[in-house]
Amino acid sequence: MSFGSVRVRFAPSPTGIFHVGGARSALFNWVVARQSPGGRFVLRIEDTDVARNRPEWMEGIVRALAWLGISQESETFEGPYFQSSNAQRHGAAARQLFQVGRAYYCACTREEVVARASGPHRGYDGRCRELGLPRGEGRALRFRTPDDGVTAVADLIRGATEFPNAAMEDFVIARGDGSAVFLLANAVDDLDQRINLVIRGEEHLSNAAKQQLLWEALGATPPRWAHVPVIVNEKRQKLSKRRDRVALEDYQAEGYLAETMRNYLMLLGWAPGGDREIVPWSVIEAEFRLENVNSSPAQFDVNKLRSFNGEYIRTLPLAEFVERCQPWLTPPAAPWPAQSFDEKAFAALAPLAQTRVGVLSEITTVVDWVFLDPPAFDEASWSKAMKDHATAGDILRATIAAYQTSPWEAEALKTELERVGNGLGLKLGKAQAPVRVAVMSRTVGLPLFESLTVLGRERTLARLRAALDRLRLTTPGEPSGLASRPVGPEGP
Ligand code: GLU
Repeated sequence: MSFGSVRVRFAPSPTGIFHVGGARSALFNWVVARQSPGGRFVLRIEDTDVARNRPEWMEGIVRALAWLGISQESETFEGPYFQSSNAQRHGAAARQLFQVGRAYYCACTREEVVARASGPHRGYDGRCRELGLPRGEGRALRFRTPDDGVTAVADLIRGATEFPNAAMEDFVIARGDGSAVFLLANAVDDLDQRINLVIRGEEHLSNAAKQQLLWEALGATPPRWAHVPVIVNEKRQKLSKRRDRVALEDYQAEGYLAETMRNYLMLLGWAPGGDREIVPWSVIEAEFRLENVNSSPAQFDVNKLRSFNGEYIRTLPLAEFVERCQPWLTPPAAPWPAQSFDEKAFAALAPLAQTRVGVLSEITTVVDWVFLDPPAFDEASWSKAMKDHATAGDILRATIAAYQTSPWEAEALKTELERVGNGLGLKLGKAQAPVRVAVMSRTVGLPLFESLTVLGRERTLARLRAALDRLRLTTPGEPSGLASRPVGPEGP
């Protein structure tokens, strides 16, 4: 079956945050357009809900698309078109349907329709169907659905779904004030924009049956359809704005890479085959097939997304990693004052940090101890590392003494601390803990000795001494504790 070049569209309503489900639909559309020689991805902003539209939502969508790689600069991209500019065309299509007898005016009020509703679909009972009412103030225009037979929606993902026409009510296509409703406006725009494949969320499947009837009644061949599966959370509940994190922007702000998001979103319903999951975009563009999209719900697993992101972060060239961290390295994202940031120190720590962050925003907690003086105190880490006050004090004192003269490079610093540990009958791991917490405030983090080389001798010694002071203050009167020993900057 050949349809010439594919013309798909993404048709968001700018009435709220940009949902990851919307982003997934956009990406599916984009890939399909890219795969077709001369294919086009049309962006149509469905901005007819004046009360709920906001320009910033619209801008957010365009920005997010660009972030994902759906760029207006590409020749695949067409638009954006604004649905509100096509109001006349929607009105003309409504009149055309009336003139050819496929639509009729209805004088029933909403209350009357609801009061009389019966049957399995509790829809409109067709009272005005044969009254031949002319257009008039407050009269809605209804589409005359066929009395019998079925409307078969052939969907590339779900196969054929048959909608019995008798069960389809005569649905409204234009309101009492003449304005077109979503079903008509959306179909007329698709028709005018020569869309030949509609890829959108599963919730629109039943609209497809009605829209297919509209296309036919307007004398046109309906597009092909592909309704992508619903997205569920870990508990298999449909992703919801109120319960789940669904805003693409939030993931971006937390430091998920665009590469991660677009790879992961493509897997919501599709798989590249084999064990592959993390695949280059070029592979996705080459191998994606709508026909292979699964119709069952797709699970959005944040833990998996996070581990994908960690992997993507680790594959970045170092300079690129440093570059991508920039937004988090200054206030307000960073907890340190702007003037304390030291680019060289960061560059030295970056290779160590790159393997340890799952999202870029975590970079602040991995390196904050270098740029904050003193580092933020962490009670839990302190208590854990300094539980045995006496030994911790001994370690700190001996380390201070050793580090005053030790060459300031990682191997030597490690050897010195090993020696300190040996002297106290401790393995390096144990001897390291109080030093690490004194210097970095946390029990886990970057490799200690490399970190010390970046912090420098003076600052390291100052922190070890400060820890010793704190230790003394927190053990008043402890018999075998530090209070009974001479505690000076360099120890006994
Ligand atoms: N504006 C509609 C929505 O955001 C578009 C539906 C469609 O893709 O046809 O749900």
